[in-house]
Parts: sequence; C-alpha cells; structure tokens
Amino acid sequence: MMKIVSKVSEMLAIQKDLLRPVGLVPTMGALHIGHESLINQSLKDNNSTVVSIFVNPSQFNAAADLEKYPKPLNADLALLEKAGVDIAFLPDNEEMYPKGFETWIEAEKTSVILEGQSRPGHFKGVATIVTKLFNIVKPDKAYFGQKDAQQLNIIKRLNEDLNLFVSIIDMPTIRDENGLAVSSRNAFLTDAERDAAHILFQSLSQAKEMIMEGKYDAGIIRNRITKMLGGSDLISVDYVSISKLRSLEELTIIEKPVLISLAVIINNTRLIDNIIVE
Ligand code: AMP
Repeated sequence: MMKIVSKVSEMLAIQKDLLRPVGLVPTMGALHIGHESLINQSLKDNNSTVVSIFVNPSQFNAAADLEKYPKPLNADLALLEKAGVDIAFLPDNEEMYPKGFETWIEAEKTSVILEGQSRPGHFKGVATIVTKLFNIVKPDKAYFGQKDAQQLNIIKRLNEDLNLFVSIIDMPTIRDENGLAVSSRNAFLTDAERDAAHILFQSLSQAKEMIMEGKYDAGIIRNRITKMLGGSDLISVDYVSISKLRSLEELTIIEKPVLISLAVIINNTRLIDNIIVE
C-alpha cells in the first residue's frame, strides 16, 4: 500500500524506517510517461521509492502560469499507486515555505543564463526546493530528466557544492511518436500547435546531424535551427543555444560533448527541448 504523506515532520520520521537504498523522484504532478520512466527506474534501482508532488510557487515567474498549471491529483495518485511507489509526498506551501522563510539556494552563474535569463528567479526556486526535498527525504538516489538539461546541471552542481551526497541519475527525454518531448504543458497546445511543435526536435536532430558530418561552426548550426523554427508562424523563438554540456558556456566552434538547447513560445505556452552530441 502506498502511503500519502503531507507533513514534513511525518516524512522525516518515516524516512528513517524506509528500506535502503531510497530513490526520490521530485515532480510537479500532472504525471505523464516522462515522469513514469523516472519512477520505474527508481523502482528498479532501489528498495523504496518516494515521489514528491509539489507545484513549487517560487519557480514560477508569472502568477497566471502557476494558476493554470494542471493539478490532476487523483489521477496522479492512482498512477503512483499502480506503479508500486512506496510514498507519495505531497507537502503544501505552508509546509515548504512556513512563515518567516527567507533562506534560498542559488547557483550564481548557471541560474541567470538561458532559461534563467527568460525566467528570472526560476532556478533559485528549483535549487531551494530540491535541496529541501533532499534534506527531508534523505534519498540515496534522485532521478531527473535530461529534458530539463539546465536544471539537471544546477542540481548536480548544488549536490556537489553543498556536499549533499545524493547520487543524481539523469534520465533520457521521453518523446511522442513524432519526437515532441512529452510535457505537462503540451496539454495547452491545440492539434495544429502540437503539429507545429514537432519542428523543435526535427531542428535539433538536423543540428546533431550537421555536427556528426563535421560541421563545426556553431553560428551556422544555430542559424539553421532558428530558420527551421521560423518556418512556422505559430512559433516564436526565445533562444537557440549551442553550449558546452557541463558549463553551458556558449560555443563559437563545436567542442564535444555539446548541448544544443532551445526554448520557444507557442501561443503563451513555453516549450523547451535539447539534444546532446557526445
Ligand atoms: P516536472 O514535473 O515538470 O517538474 O518534472 C519532473 C521531472 O520529470 C524532472 O526531472 C523532469 O526533467 C522530468 N521530465 C519531465 N518531462 C520529461 C520527459 N519528457 N522525459 C523525461 N523526463 C521528463
């Protein structure tokens, strides 16, 4: 039987008796096959799996975005129960940010570029909540998707910088049959917008191919992606980045391993995707 825990104090107490190793999968709910792949990996690797669902207000920039974020709690709990998860941890805002809360974790450099530039404060919210979850659940391993590549970098960094000693496991991006990265936000897209969004992965794949063929001018590759995305009236490009995989330093000449990442807006819905070329 899955246990549903909503208090930090209860989670702390229960955590002590969990069979180790313990895997943690932090989520914001609206669970889909991307989340499921992380959960299944944790179930495979560990004797106990904790999945947290917390729509973290501090990582949203716009109140409207937070407001409209899908929250299908009953369906999520049914999915977790069926998967065989041990604990669903569902703290509320008062549990995570009690009165007087004022201490934040922030990656200095990585959190203000790319996603961080477009979404000021986003990674400060992410880094703080993940640190808190690590401290409350005390997992041996924690699972994160490569889809949020910059988030993954920041979490690896903070885990090392703050000596948290959690094994961070990165999981490949799960895509639909046409290559669109599965996301809770895809639910906001109309059929036409979803069709248009398939160009994201196509452009990333094309860029990867160019690099594999030996084209090493990052500017040319960046332009190629931007041009492909620009082919649709429905898509407005936020950024196209070709960077070093770890430091996220922007490249002029390709140096592998390289991260090609992009963000676009389709009718108020922000979509991100990326590909790695090893
Ligand atoms: P979220 O609920 O959006 O905060 O995501 C929770 C975790 O699931 C994060 O580590 C994400 O990177 C991961 N995730 C989201 N979408 C996917 C996907 N399509 N494939 C793999 N992992 C994903």
